[in-house]
Amino acid sequence: MKTAIKSATYIGRFAPSPTGPLHFGSLVCALASFLDARSHSGRWLVRVEDIDPPREIPGATTTILQQLTDHGLIWDGELLYQSTRIEAYRDAIENLQRSGVAYNCDCPRQRITALGGIYDGHCRDRQVIENAAVRLRVPAQSESTQSFRDLVMGDYSQNLATEAGDFVVQRRDGLFSYQLAVTVDDQFQNISHIIRGADLIDSTPRQIYLQNCLNFSADSSPTISSPALTYGHLPMATNAEGQKLSKQNHAAALIAGEESQNLWLALEWLQQQPPAELNAESVERILDWAIGNWSIESIPKQIALPAPKHY
Ligand code: GLU
Ligand code: ZN
Repeated sequence: MKTAIKSATYIGRFAPSPTGPLHFGSLVCALASFLDARSHSGRWLVRVEDIDPPREIPGATTTILQQLTDHGLIWDGELLYQSTRIEAYRDAIENLQRSGVAYNCDCPRQRITALGGIYDGHCRDRQVIENAAVRLRVPAQSESTQSFRDLVMGDYSQNLATEAGDFVVQRRDGLFSYQLAVTVDDQFQNISHIIRGADLIDSTPRQIYLQNCLNFSADSSPTISSPALTYGHLPMATNAEGQKLSKQNHAAALIAGEESQNLWLALEWLQQQPPAELNAESVERILDWAIGNWSIESIPKQIALPAPKHY
C-alpha cells in the first residue's frame, strides 16, 4: 500500500452538469476525484454546473445527487449551484474588460466557422458595443505556450494562440461560458486538485491562463504562468462504437441497486486491482478499501478506454 502525502489544503471537487443521470464515465470521474481527495485527507466538494438551461433535464440534479449518495460518495459542506453565482461571473467579466484583456466581438457565426474554430482576433481593436460576445485575448504565438504536468497523462502543453485563439468567456446571448464559470468557481472554492475526464484536458491550458487573467489588474497584458492547481485527467469511457459515453449517444444510466458492482467495475477499469470478493461488500467497505489502496499512477494513460461490457 502506498503512503498518501497528507495535505491540509487539499480541496477536490466533482462538477456535474445536470444534463442527465450519471453513467459509467461520470461515475469514474466522481469516484476518482473522491478517492484522490480522501486518500490525501482532503475535502471533496460537489458543484452543480447548472448555467446552461437549454441543455438541462428537469430532475437531473436530484437524480445525480441520489446516485452519488447511493454509491457512498458523500460530499463535504454545502453544494454550490452555479446558477447562484451569476453576479460573480458578471464581476469577473467586468474586471477582465477593465484590465483590457477581454473585448467584445460581434462576428457572425459563419465568419467564425470559416476560420476553422480558431478566432483571428478581428474585433480586438474594433470597440464593438452592441450584440456582442466577450472574448479573452491570448498572448502572441511566440509567448503563448501553456504547459502543465498532468497527474495521469504526464506533460501536456498547448499553444493558446494557434490551438485555442481568443476564446469566448460570455456568449452573445449573455450566458457565461463553461471556461469562465468553472475557473471563477474553482478559485472561489479554493480548489487545489482537479480530477476529471480527459475530454477536458484541452480546456485546461485556457483555464490556467484565465486564472492568471482573473488575478490580474494592471494595464499590461497577463502572460503565461505556471498553474496554481494540480490536474489529473482520466481516460474517457467509450461505447462499442468508440464514442465517449454521453447523454447525446444514449449512455445507460448507472443501474440502481447495483452500487457495489458499479464501484467495483469502476475500480477495476481504473486498474486499481480490486480483489474479486470485494464485489459483494457494502459501498462503504469498497470505498474504504479503495481509499487505502488508491494509486493514481496505475490509471492507464489513455485518452479513451472502452467501458466494461455491462455499460
Ligand atoms: N460540468 C462539466 C461536465 O459535466 C465538468 C466540469 C469540470 O470538471 O471542469 O462536463
Ligand atoms: Zn469578432
